[in-house]
Amino acid sequence: MDKRIKYKEIEKLKEDGLPIIVFKIVREAEAISNACQDMGINIKAFCDFEKRNTGKKFCGLDVIHMPDLPKLFPKARIIIASQYISDSIDQLTEFGYNEFYSPLELLENYDVNKYNHLISRSYMQTQITSIKKAHEAYFDGKKTFMRSLDVMITTKCSMKCESCSNLMQYYKNPEDSNYQKILDEVNIITNHVDDISEFRVIGGEPLMNKDWANITDGLLRDDPKRKIFIWTNGTVGPKDQQLELLQGKNISFVITDYGLLSRNIERMKEKLLKFNLAFVATEVKNWVDCSSLKQHNRTPSQLQEVYKQCCAKYLYTLLDGKLYSCPFIANAAKLKAIKDNPANYVDLYSQPDVVKNKIKRLVGGVKFLPGCDFCDGRPYDATSNKGYDGKGMIPAAIQTSDTLPYKTYK
Ligand code: SF4
Ligand code: SF4
Repeated sequence: MDKRIKYKEIEKLKEDGLPIIVFKIVREAEAISNACQDMGINIKAFCDFEKRNTGKKFCGLDVIHMPDLPKLFPKARIIIASQYISDSIDQLTEFGYNEFYSPLELLENYDVNKYNHLISRSYMQTQITSIKKAHEAYFDGKKTFMRSLDVMITTKCSMKCESCSNLMQYYKNPEDSNYQKILDEVNIITNHVDDISEFRVIGGEPLMNKDWANITDGLLRDDPKRKIFIWTNGTVGPKDQQLELLQGKNISFVITDYGLLSRNIERMKEKLLKFNLAFVATEVKNWVDCSSLKQHNRTPSQLQEVYKQCCAKYLYTLLDGKLYSCPFIANAAKLKAIKDNPANYVDLYSQPDVVKNKIKRLVGGVKFLPGCDFCDGRPYDATSNKGYDGKGMIPAAIQTSDTLPYKTYK
């Protein structure tokens, strides 16, 4: 166990001492704040690497941009609200902090029904279950745990964002993935890992695949305990019979609100309310530039830095019978925009013991992937150029009329 985190010492947080800071702004940080309040633990502030989350209040407290934290609080007790625990500790240690707490005890008996949250109770419950699993797996140390699996069911999208981080702007012939293949491949993955906290049905725009509801339903038929999130851009109106099929099941919609571009968002919300399906809608105006396709010819140590700073390296992605550790490499490989290299993925149709070992390695033991050399990087802190060659924050969802050109490899 990583001794740098003090799970069983929540009592110490009740004592007077160094200021208590919560890292970082995630939805379940609100529950951590409520639990602290109930237990008489005084949080001083929140902090985050994402600049756009900072300089404002969260749960009535300041959110400080991480690089500024040492100036304000050179020493602190830090509660790790992130599900990427080891990475968080590594990052915070670089800023001179060494006293870390898991929120596991705080959330042990948390009752979502006691509070009003910024998100629905069912959505908060799902988030809390997910963070608890992540922290339990961290303390266990032996499990192959995936916080999430992105199940890409189509490369078609109803929008054409010129800087789509999933690279949809490069597809000349976008296509749907096959219903049965997806279900079979998800089962191959789940047979070789201890736990996957959430399954994210994504695209492109997943609702462009006419089978989206059947695929989602199939994922739950194979294991009703799975938690499914459907990531949509609010452009495609779901049909009543599709929502009827999913009613009362472990499904939440995550709607990215791109303003006028999300032309069916209100109708979608009305329908989800009608069928009592959980959803959260988030307005997005800016995102991090990370969609260029070019070879950088970095040295191994430069590649390690890019990977270390990357916030997308645990977005495990299933596409075309292969498991990748991020959507960039998954789509760059499908587009043939990077050189084929089996070190970039797990071929799910290999021998079972090979699949198991390769998944273990992908989840727990890489320092970088060959495909990272074709990526600008996707840093936790887009204001820093450490391990990053992109433009930083850019306006979200600028549309392009044409498919973008790129170099292909055999
Ligand atoms: S809406 Fe834009 S960012 Fe989202 S998948 Fe489609 S093209 Fe990509
Ligand atoms: S840096 Fe590597 S892991 Fe991160 S998004 Fe780019 S290719 Fe994926």
